[in-house]
Amino acid sequence: MSECLFCAIAAGEIPADVVHSDDRTVAFRDINPQAPVHVLVIPREHHDTAGDLASADPSLTAELIGVAASIAQREGVADSGYRIVTNTGADAGQSVRHVHFHLLGGRGLAWPPG
Ligand code: 5GP
Ligand code: ZN
Repeated sequence: MSECLFCAIAAGEIPADVVHSDDRTVAFRDINPQAPVHVLVIPREHHDTAGDLASADPSLTAELIGVAASIAQREGVADSGYRIVTNTGADAGQSVRHVHFHLLGGRGLAWPPG
């Protein structure tokens, strides 16, 4: 069993409501959704943060954004609007140190964020 929660989900060792899976990326519904659509998009490969991922593999970073956009289409929020968020570090509230992009949509989202 992987020590990293999201590595374990990507490996299928911990169950999740998976909405997308390919050889490099996985997306699954957040266990504590903050909006009608709340999906986490992750690389299979472990990187702690978005900055680390972008340094190591820019094309994978872009792929993850593309996966989020295609899920937004499929979930019916592409026209109404959605947000892609990635938290880094304690002040931003990053609780899982495996980079993940939150895809949030299906309701009006406040700005600025809290
Ligand atoms: P962060 O706080 O790091 O930006 O986001 C981590 C997200 O992972 C949170 O929104 C949290 O609800 C979600 N999460 C934590 N544990 C699990 C889990 O076991 N399964 C799923 N599907 N989501 C999880
Ligand atoms: Zn990991």
